[in-house]
Amino acid sequence: MIHIIGAGPAGLYLGWKLKELNPNLEVTIYEEHEKIGEPIQCTGLVTSKINDYVKIPKSVIANKISKAKIFAPNGTFVEINLSDPDLVIHRNKFDQHLAKKATKAGCDIKKGSGLTRIEKGILVFKKTKVILKPGDIVVGSDGPKSLVAEHLGVKHDLLSGIQAIMKIKNSSIIKFYPYIGEYAWVVPEDKGTARVGVVAREDCKKIFDEFVSGFKGQTVDIQAGTIPMHKPSLRIHKTVDGVAWFIVGDAAGQVKNTTGGGIIPGLRSAEKLARAIVSKEYWTYVITCQIQPDLVAHQLMNRAFSKFSDKDWNELIDEFKSKELKEVLANTDRENALSMIFKILSKKPRFIKYGEKAF
Ligand SMILES: Cc1cc2nc3c(=O)[nH]c(=O)nc-3n(C[C@H](O)[C@H](O)[C@H](O)COP(=O)(O)OP(=O)(O)OC[C@H]3O[C@@H](n4cnc5c(N)ncnc54)[C@H](O)[C@@H]3O)c2cc1C
Repeated sequence: MIHIIGAGPAGLYLGWKLKELNPNLEVTIYEEHEKIGEPIQCTGLVTSKINDYVKIPKSVIANKISKAKIFAPNGTFVEINLSDPDLVIHRNKFDQHLAKKATKAGCDIKKGSGLTRIEKGILVFKKTKVILKPGDIVVGSDGPKSLVAEHLGVKHDLLSGIQAIMKIKNSSIIKFYPYIGEYAWVVPEDKGTARVGVVAREDCKKIFDEFVSGFKGQTVDIQAGTIPMHKPSLRIHKTVDGVAWFIVGDAAGQVKNTTGGGIIPGLRSAEKLARAIVSKEYWTYVITCQIQPDLVAHQLMNRAFSKFSDKDWNELIDEFKSKELKEVLANTDRENALSMIFKILSKKPRFIKYGEKAF
């Protein structure tokens, strides 16, 4: 029996893929909320690579955007024409779409079933208990404040994120401000609405209020959430009394530290975990060799950026205005950070000086 705690993208995708790989598996997904995908705590910006994992139905897509501007503190920016448009998705509809797929594949989704604690060999939910047996598998896909991760001894380094849904007339350009808080953004949902947000380690509300005050437009909703920082040292698997425990997605800190993007890393990790469970692959090996290298690249970039002065940002953004670097940004898959770093360094070897800040 496989028990998946948390019906977000990582848990639902894992359940769906497990049943697809082996229809005989018994898979139950437990979700604390009564409605899948709500409350929304996400901007829903993903690269078109998401279609490699799940074909996104039109009804889930709010916007397709081919232009992005990255700003420097001095107000200048580099403009990028993305060769593949980014997608802005409705997170609630996306999660509900995955839930349909998981259910159709044969998963049992139990809504309103929040895990409240884990006792020796027992999962304690709000209204019921599950006694674990040898051979059972428990996967925590219960997000950044995961109880399963805590049970495995994992302590996440958490950031706060706040976004406003604002009525702002816009020309469908993503705006990214890497020097505000950890980062800040404006992501157009349609021509008259944008998702405007900030992620910060401290004083997030203050930084958010200041950032949002720079935009004219009515705020129709405020959403807030937590983002874990990726750390390669996290223990994400153990076996106790014949029960195998895993964590995946935000619960395992599988997030790009440069942008907080966790949807595609969560899907990718869930897909690999499904394969590893079904074909009994050595999970630590899969994690170390196939999932972590790219996330570590983001981690190191973020570590370097955290030491950037305004002058460094102004200089870097200015450098990126060159045709050759704009081409790299426009044409390289952002899900593949290592490839992007190598391409950039091959064009500008002296950028290694920025990398040195990570150590
Ligand atoms: C403000 C903000 C903006 C973001 N914008 C983007 C973006 O534009 N693009 C992007 O890629 N990522 C973005 N992210 C990150 C993205 O939302 C996460 O990486 C993604 O949701 C992780 O998916 P998950 O399935 O691992 O976890 P979650 O989506 O957090 O799902 C976990 C699920 O588990 C459930 N759960 C939790 N505890 C329990 C429990 N005890 N028992 C049962 N169920 C439980 C929750 O209700 C939830 O349904 C953003 C995050 C924030 C906070």
